[in-house]
Amino acid sequence: MASYDFDAPRLFIDAPLQAGARILLDRGQANYLLNVLRLRAGEAALVFNGRDGEWRAEISVEGRKSAGLVCAERIREQGPAPDLIYAFAPLKHARLDYMVQKAVEMGAGVLQPVRTQRTQSARVNLERMRSNAIEAAEQCGILSVPDIRDEENLIKFINGLEKDRLVVFCDEDAPVSNPAQALAKLGNKQPRLAVVVGPEGGFTDQERALVAAHEKSVCVSLGPRILRADTAAVAALAIVQSVLGDWH
Ligand code: SAH
Repeated sequence: MASYDFDAPRLFIDAPLQAGARILLDRGQANYLLNVLRLRAGEAALVFNGRDGEWRAEISVEGRKSAGLVCAERIREQGPAPDLIYAFAPLKHARLDYMVQKAVEMGAGVLQPVRTQRTQSARVNLERMRSNAIEAAEQCGILSVPDIRDEENLIKFINGLEKDRLVVFCDEDAPVSNPAQALAKLGNKQPRLAVVVGPEGGFTDQERALVAAHEKSVCVSLGPRILRADTAAVAALAIVQSVLGDWH
């Protein structure tokens, strides 16, 4: 990875970024830069919006509690967003927060909550998911903020996928076999990917049959032990990214 400036604070700014653009920060962002990091006018922060790459911006302090930034120079170009859908049965708060952040760090381009027959949690809070996704992108030098999709029924989600999208189905009932080998058989690069992880109660046989009926789907075991869904998320995404995704 290019020598990256991990010292400068990074902020997601939902506004166009170009040379000379002046950005007024919201109170939370101003407080973070001025009071938490104790930065002063003229010092730099890195800003990105998911479309215009990453910019070095200088702090211009308007008042005691407000701050602005002026975009100085683009330091990273915006690459393509990863075409990896992470589809998951919603979990309860803290574990969902964790799972969302890890999926973003692992390179998911789309977060798709799917309701399955055994999903126990209430409807997901999309705003909470989005702020967790933004926080993960800010902390990990990620330039694109994942698309947070509204909750959908698993059947509707699978039936709505492109025919050439490979669905990696993490099935806790699958016979134990090496998932990396199962994926490697499919060639070394899959342009369109989806990874599906179920709820605490696992999948039903009807759901297994539905996912298996998708044109391009592969059922993988994640080893001989049952993983919690948030653990399965990291394990599955690591294997998928290393064999078929952007880890090579
Ligand atoms: N029914 C079990 C497992 C649910 S774990 C239980 O109640 O404990 C939640 C999800 O994580 C599963 O639906 C599956 O997608 C994934 N998962 C967990 N362990 C797995 C394994 N060993 N192999 C494949 N997927 C697994």
